[in-house]
Order: sequence, then structure tokens, then C-alpha cells
Amino acid sequence: MKIDLHAHSNVSDGTEAPAAVMAAAAAAGLDVIALTDHDSTDGWAEAARAAVDNGVALVPGMEISCRTAQGISVHLLSYLHDPAHAGLLEEITKAKDARLTRAERMVTLLAEDYPLSWDDVIHHVAPGATLGRPHIADALVAAGVVSDRSEAFTSILTSHSRYFVQHYAPEPALAVELVRAAGGVPVFAHPVASSRGRVVGERTYREMIDAGLAGLEVDHRDNSEEGREFLRGLAARHGLLITGSSDYHGTGKPNRLGEYLTAPEVFAQIEELGTGTAVIR
Ligand code: AMP
Ligand code: FE
Ligand code: FE
Ligand code: ZN
Repeated sequence: MKIDLHAHSNVSDGTEAPAAVMAAAAAAGLDVIALTDHDSTDGWAEAARAAVDNGVALVPGMEISCRTAQGISVHLLSYLHDPAHAGLLEEITKAKDARLTRAERMVTLLAEDYPLSWDDVIHHVAPGATLGRPHIADALVAAGVVSDRSEAFTSILTSHSRYFVQHYAPEPALAVELVRAAGGVPVFAHPVASSRGRVVGERTYREMIDAGLAGLEVDHRDNSEEGREFLRGLAARHGLLITGSSDYHGTGKPNRLGEYLTAPEVFAQIEELGTGTAVIR
């Protein structure tokens, strides 16, 4: 069984519609795929229909952007939560709204130095999608400022850039609690991805574990080999699940579907733990 539990569609910053992601998952030979758009479950219905048509099992999921009190960015994957849970919905709606204002502020700053307008950015965003820096990157590519998203992220759009603006994001432990309350299975995404910025220390792991963290995404291209060793030790000490996934974004990132996989026993445990909604087969 080939199981990939982390993929994005154009409901957030992936480049393909949810149905196309399901078709791509089948073409890549996957048996199970999770759709984990940033701060949104709007792609679930379309993905569910396409998953059945393409003969892949769909794990409805989401990736929640969080920030610690120390200002460190944390991504939390949620699997099989109830998408209508009021507390969780309130948090992601707040974050999604804040992302809009934040993108407008970044574009205003960028427009002082680059040929970029708000319309240029919106052109790359599917209606209702969760807005992020990747969409601003797309507009910079179209304007010929950078050659691809990756170049934008190593230069103009890093978190150290003078054009970077933060947006509201819940603390990781709160997000873990809400995912559990919604019947979901919370898994810490790419926890040691140091290329994305500062990574969390022991205190944040402890807070997330105390709040009900279920697993760690160990096998991910952005985690260093020594970081993965550290995570395996942590998982063993605290009885956490270990997952592996691609973090596919279509043509928006080099990550290919199935490049990292999750073990069937772990998937079975996630399915068992998740009570907010069911795997679509
Ligand atoms: P934001 O959440 O708007 O701050 O943007 C962060 C998002 O940008 C993450 O979810 C990543 O998927 C994406 N991202 C980060 N680094 C890169 C990169 N080097 N190339 C393409 N996308 C990236
Ligand atoms: Fe993303
Ligand atoms: Fe992420
Ligand atoms: Zn992701």
C-alpha cells in the first residue's frame, strides 16, 4: 500500500484543482492520499467525488498555520476532523481573513519596488482559496522578477525580508486541542524544516504533546537526516505516530506525490483515531 498524507490543491497554494490532485495521486500509483490544504476544507467535496472515480482512498485533512508565543511558525496537519466544528472553524476563518489583509499589506510594500499590483496577485488565486505568499510569488514570476516560486522564497519573500508581514495564527497547543475536540488526528508537519525559518524547542513539543498531539511528520524532504533521528527518538519516548508524506503542491514546488510514504499500520491507527469524518473509499 502506498500512502501519502500531505498534498495541496488550488483551494490553497497548490496549482491543481482538488479533482486533478486525486487523478495525479492515482497516476502516481498511490492507494491513499490526504488532501491537506492550508486553513481550508473547501476542497473535500470535489476531492471525494474524484477519489472514488480514480480508485484512490481520500483522507480529508487540513494544514493549520500556527505561531508560538516566541514567533516561530508551526504547521499542524489535521486528519478526519469534523469540518463544521465551531471552535476550529472560528480559528481557521480568523486566520484566513487575516491572510487577506496581510497579503494586501505585502503587495503594497512590494509595489514600491517591483512591477506588481493586487490584481496581478488575485489573477493567480482560485475563488475563495486561502491566500499565501506562493500566490504573490506567482505574480512575481509572471512579472519576470524571479524565475519560480522557490527563487521568490529564497529572496524577496523570506520571513526576514523587509516585505514580509505576519498574519494571525493560533498557538500550536490551541490548534492541537481544537483538532482533537473536532474528532481529528493532529500531526506536527515537517517539524525540523530549518530552511523555512526557526524551529521549535522542547517546550513547544511538550505543550503540543500535553494538548493531545498524535504524531510527527518525520519523513519529509525539508527535515534533515539528523532532525529525523531526533524526531524518531521523541516519537518513541512519547508514543507518537510517525508519518511520511510529499507535501505536493502541483507545479508550485518540486515535491512529487509519493516521494515519502506512511506505513499502513500508522494509517490504520489514524483512521481508528479520527472520529470527525470518515476516509472516502
Ligand atoms: P504563507 O503561509 O503565506 O506564509 O506561505 C508559506 C507557504 O509557502 C508554505 O505553505 C509553503 O507551501 C510555501 N513555500 C514555502 N517555501 C517555498 C518554496 N521554496 N517554494 C515554493 N513554495 C514554498
Ligand atoms: Fe503550502
Ligand atoms: Fe507546511
Ligand atoms: Zn503543506
